[in-house]
Amino acid sequence: MKPAPFTYEAAASVRDAVERLSSSASPRILAGGQSLVPMLNLRLAPADALLDISRIPELRAVEERPDAIRYGALITHTAFEDGAVPDGSNGLMRHAAANIAYRAVRTRGTIGGAIALADPAADWITVTIALEAMLHLTSATEKRRISVQDFVRGPYFTALGDDELIEAIEVPKRPDTERWGYSKVVVKTGEYAESMTIALLDKARKFSRVVLGATDGAPIVMAEAAAALLGGADEDAKKAAISSDLMRSKHDFSAAKRILHTTTVLRAMKQSSAA
Ligand SMILES: Cc1cc2nc3c(=O)[nH]c(=O)nc-3n(C[C@H](O)[C@H](O)[C@H](O)COP(=O)(O)OP(=O)(O)OC[C@H]3O[C@@H](n4cnc5c(N)ncnc54)[C@H](O)[C@@H]3O)c2cc1C
Repeated sequence: MKPAPFTYEAAASVRDAVERLSSSASPRILAGGQSLVPMLNLRLAPADALLDISRIPELRAVEERPDAIRYGALITHTAFEDGAVPDGSNGLMRHAAANIAYRAVRTRGTIGGAIALADPAADWITVTIALEAMLHLTSATEKRRISVQDFVRGPYFTALGDDELIEAIEVPKRPDTERWGYSKVVVKTGEYAESMTIALLDKARKFSRVVLGATDGAPIVMAEAAAALLGGADEDAKKAAISSDLMRSKHDFSAAKRILHTTTVLRAMKQSSAA
């Protein structure tokens, strides 16, 4: 299929982009185009006007501070995968990026686009929620910061205003005493996750965090599972904690999905506590 007709304009700077976003044309942002273009072709995402932000240099900037790294929204999955940008996640972001889709998609797909879309099965929303990342949003009138956890409200549903764009993603540097576990189940290599979990464990800081993604909704922060991980609970107690988290999430998971999610959570927890 071919897309419905649309107008195309390219922004030269963030200021230029947000001014165009606040105009009556209400253009839709185009970044790497890896999700939006197929959706336009299938006529699943009607857009009368596209605003291409892919040539804005500020959105490719990376700023490393002692406590956090700020990644411009246009940083591609490949840049993380190839180590072309600094990593403060003890290698988790690099590993996660390398497991998104195929290399061709990764060379154009951007972290900002992936988070803005909030596809429930997408990798970055789960990874950045686990890493307690913050988003920098900007419009013609306001700049604001919001955690990715608060930003993602449901499947393809976020706190992004029509006149806003994601300027950057700020990821706190993780202590080197922290260990991570990553488990993703896909039907075929390069496809979206059926279930994925990130587990973080830092025994020195007495910190743990477990986030389950690909739930058909926003990623679930698994508080009881995290407590069980930190407390060194046995497998039965961990399963009970996971079950309780799944129950509290109020998702109506099928029996098969429940088993699948329990499996990725257990695998990620095991990996995080193995090192
Ligand atoms: C075959 C295939 C397999 C894939 N598999 C996976 C996978 O396994 N895991 C995964 O996570 N992803 C997967 N993807 C998606 C891929 O990661 C995309 O790159 C990503 O979802 C969107 O990034 P993009 O830069 O291409 O955004 P675009 O497609 O350009 O835009 C996506 C949406 O985000 C909005 N947007 C983009 N940038 C911004 C911004 N800075 N501020 C505000 N709004 C913005 C757009 O308006 C649009 O609504 C797959 C894609 C394909 C085609």
